Amino acid sequence: MEITRPTDLAGVLVALDSNPDALLLAGGTDSMVLVNAGLLNPDAVVSLRAVDELKSWSDDFIGSAVTYARLETSDIAALAELSRTVGSPQIRAAGTIGGNLGTASPAGDALPFIAAVDASIELISKAGSRTLRWDEFLTGPKQNVLFPGEVILGVRLPAEMPLRTAFAKIGVRQAMVISIASVCVTRAASGATTVAMGAVGPTVLRARRAEEMISAVDEPDEQALTGFQQLVSEDAQPITDHRSTEEYRRMAVGVLARRALQRCLI
Ligand SMILES: Cc1cc2nc3c(=O)[nH]c(=O)nc-3n(C[C@H](O)[C@H](O)[C@H](O)COP(=O)(O)OP(=O)(O)OC[C@H]3O[C@@H](n4cnc5c(N)ncnc54)[C@H](O)[C@@H]3O)c2cc1C
Repeated sequence: MEITRPTDLAGVLVALDSNPDALLLAGGTDSMVLVNAGLLNPDAVVSLRAVDELKSWSDDFIGSAVTYARLETSDIAALAELSRTVGSPQIRAAGTIGGNLGTASPAGDALPFIAAVDASIELISKAGSRTLRWDEFLTGPKQNVLFPGEVILGVRLPAEMPLRTAFAKIGVRQAMVISIASVCVTRAASGATTVAMGAVGPTVLRARRAEEMISAVDEPDEQALTGFQQLVSEDAQPITDHRSTEEYRRMAVGVLARRALQRCLI
């Protein structure tokens, strides 16, 4: 196995130019699980660990190699909350937001946040740069539109972030667990509300009918919250698998969304 450890982005692109199929290794918390299980055996690896350009983080941009350990300190509530729920301290020290996008698991915990705030994904390759909306980038279970030789630069946040954001997830226990259902809810000062759901569809989904309904309500009462919860559940597209059932996921995502919305209303 050939391992390259560039120290800048230009070096990454040079390494990928000579071997576009090389595995890009960020934290390795997804990739190395596959390697250890014998499910992935790359001929070449390009490590991103020493590339500082991918670690930049500002008000409107999160570099792909920013770890959850750093994101836990965000003053964006949902971003800090989701980061705190990922794996263990060791996983959060290594795992990155770019790796979550690269893996594109329907249960990736950063993805509901990215979808709820309508973030874009910035990509670069030898051929040039492109910026895609989150729903152009994520196309299905463990599927995205990255092509060989392309690198995720990072996540571009909207210039104006919603006033309130909240993240919630449920798994079979409280820690070190893949989400059975997750949500990110945002609410702007105007009342405009977004809801993104994880692990209840082929990829992260927005609950558009629930958003439209609750955005029109200035001060949601119990009846409005119940209607909202119901619409979120209906908008989910869950399946039954080894982690949970379709019925439980549908119910859980509605409850999580209601609780997250209530936190946004305080
Ligand atoms: C014990 C354990 C617990 C976990 N718990 C959670 C959890 O609670 N929630 C959760 O969402 N995930 C969890 N995960 C999964 C994993 O930690 C996350 O998906 C994490 O975001 C992966 O980031 P990484 O940097 O380690 O990715 P890597 O393993 O380095 O890469 C993953 C994929 O993304 C690609 N990639 C990485 N960076 C780039 C880039 N800049 N450009 C292009 N492609 C790139 C890689 O080539 C690879 O295909 C867990 C994993 C383990 C082992």
